[in-house]
Amino acid sequence: MRRPMVAGNWKMHGTRASVAELTQGLSQLSLSSGIEVAVFPPALFINTVIDGLAKTKIVVGAQNSAVQSEQGALTGEVAPSQLAEVGCKLVLIGHSERRQVIGESDEVLNRKFAAAQAAGLKPVLCVGETLEEREAGKTLEVVGRQLSSIIDAFGVSAFANAVIAYEPVWAIGTGLTASPQQAQDVHAAIRQQLAAQDAEVAEGVQLLYGGSVKAANAAELFGMPDIDGGLIGGASLNADEFGAICRAAGN
Ligand code: PEP
Repeated sequence: MRRPMVAGNWKMHGTRASVAELTQGLSQLSLSSGIEVAVFPPALFINTVIDGLAKTKIVVGAQNSAVQSEQGALTGEVAPSQLAEVGCKLVLIGHSERRQVIGESDEVLNRKFAAAQAAGLKPVLCVGETLEEREAGKTLEVVGRQLSSIIDAFGVSAFANAVIAYEPVWAIGTGLTASPQQAQDVHAAIRQQLAAQDAEVAEGVQLLYGGSVKAANAAELFGMPDIDGGLIGGASLNADEFGAICRAAGN
């Protein structure tokens, strides 16, 4: 039985003051025991947020981590083992902003995925198509290819300890949301692709939807059979709004 998960990606937002306020707001939420909740602050604030949420059920993840698992000579990067040591549990791999703006390739993302798992972090692999790809009817091909990159390198069992977030690029931060049926169709295809190799892994993996999710549309999206929660950007910067999305996942 899959537990719903709601994860907040704070992206490159926050000051000391706003992070303290948001953490304080989150620490006061009353969250259903049936759901998993995570937040991904900027790396600079991870320690503070871990401390601030220590008495809650909210776990903390990183938005990025290095291609090698252990600390070493890699200027500017943060090792998965360092993240694990301070108490991080999860790491986003392949968010579209990193694929598109930073130019991270599938090959780099494969290395980050494996390094994260080697350090005991659970990767949240983000996949999704651009508007041009959707309009060209290539959504399932693109998402399938992003998924295959990991499966071909590490086998489908890599997803026994990972989460997948389907995030159509055209819906991220735009206010445009995939309809529940559009999202469900892609989620079902992802699960089928995994099931073709291992039914148990496919049945167990949490598939999150991301792209302009807010309290007003969360319940409808989370009501679809293959949508196990959400990866939330903008709306996760407000504790009350994030709390309402968590309630939608818990119902
Ligand atoms: C995201 O950044 O992962 C995201 C889904 O952003 P937003 O909710 O703001 O569209």
